[in-house]
Amino acid sequence: MKIWHPFTQEKISSKPLKIVSGEKEYLYDETGKQYVDMISSWWVNILGHSQPEIADTIAKQAHTLEHVIFAGYTHEPAENLVEILSKHLPNSLTKFFFSDNGSTAVEVALKIAYQYFLNQGINDRDIFINLEGAYHGDTIGAMSAAGASSEYHSKFKKFFFETFSIKFPKNAEDEELSVYELERFLETNHKKVCALIVEPLVQGAAGMKMYSPQFLDRIVEVVRKYGILIIFDEVMTGFYRTGTMFAMNQVKNKPDIVCLSKALTGGFMPMSLTVTTEKIYEAFWSDDWNKAFIHGHSYTANPLACAAACATQKILQTDEIQKNIKMISETHVARLNELPNKNLIAKRSCGTISAIDLNSSKLAKNVANLMFEQGIIMRPLNNTIYFIPPYCISIKNLDRAYDILTDFLK
Ligand SMILES: *Cc1c(COP(=O)(O)O)cnc(C)c1O
Repeated sequence: MKIWHPFTQEKISSKPLKIVSGEKEYLYDETGKQYVDMISSWWVNILGHSQPEIADTIAKQAHTLEHVIFAGYTHEPAENLVEILSKHLPNSLTKFFFSDNGSTAVEVALKIAYQYFLNQGINDRDIFINLEGAYHGDTIGAMSAAGASSEYHSKFKKFFFETFSIKFPKNAEDEELSVYELERFLETNHKKVCALIVEPLVQGAAGMKMYSPQFLDRIVEVVRKYGILIIFDEVMTGFYRTGTMFAMNQVKNKPDIVCLSKALTGGFMPMSLTVTTEKIYEAFWSDDWNKAFIHGHSYTANPLACAAACATQKILQTDEIQKNIKMISETHVARLNELPNKNLIAKRSCGTISAIDLNSSKLAKNVANLMFEQGIIMRPLNNTIYFIPPYCISIKNLDRAYDILTDFLK
């Protein structure tokens, strides 16, 4: 085998399953066996596989303009996309910087935040604040921003810049303590802090851990008092995963910088955006080349990806998809409610995401194997089982997954 697969210990893993095609919420293997993709292929595919309108849009764009350097040049698909997204973002977020995956969107956010201060002659704001258990991607800067609490990344910690971690609150009492500790830290260190970076409302890779909008508003208020920038990493939560277009729609305090990727193109093309405010942009606007944001990727704002994103955003707003987003959210609530409590530690949902913590990771793996045998693809995170389906899924398939889980727990 010449291919080295991601997030896989290849010696002890079974051979990767070869997928030959996809349609709606289904994937098909070489033997023609059908699988329901309950994890939207790593959380990116929100409108179903090989969605024909998106596929046609990409094909048309490929025959017109497949790519062009984005420094000194622009194109219609990129311009159209930022117009569409502007309608859904807070009015304060007006400047769109393109890159090509979630990790780079985060790297861009971190660099913009740090240079924002540098450009104003402030060179000692180099600490980032995160939320315990955070995941912001696998590149060095993104790992670093998340801090060494991540089990995936701690072996690289000697390369990390300094961070302060807010304790993840498990309940209302915890929230008070977390805020108290954050305030104590800031009293003495606020002048050294560059930005707060958080996954708003749901921490994905940590095991779909959820926390309240009130807590998010509290920590943003505490931090912002000191002129520290706020970065929301909506790479996973964006595009109705939490029920609203963005998780930030559910809080009062909006971020200074937001990172978008994953579902942005409907899961067709790798692309990301780091969106920020006029005020931050102005700190880079200068006759001095040195104050520019000297960052870019070969595939920055690839026109095929932009065209795919435009088509995705259009379909996302149709009544049919909006109705199904509601159906998924309501089904999560109802079916979690009915689960037997045996072997179950916790259960929760937020919009189209649901998660269940089982007694052990072995049990979670058993559930995943059972589902796989019955044609449902999912991938536990330790002892957590989660469903994060494409929005085109039928209630029948969603119910089937919950039926298997319910039977297992009985
Ligand atoms: C997946 C993810 C990333 C990283 O995105 P990639 O495209 O995998 O690099 C960053 N932040 C969050 C919250 C994510 O879920």
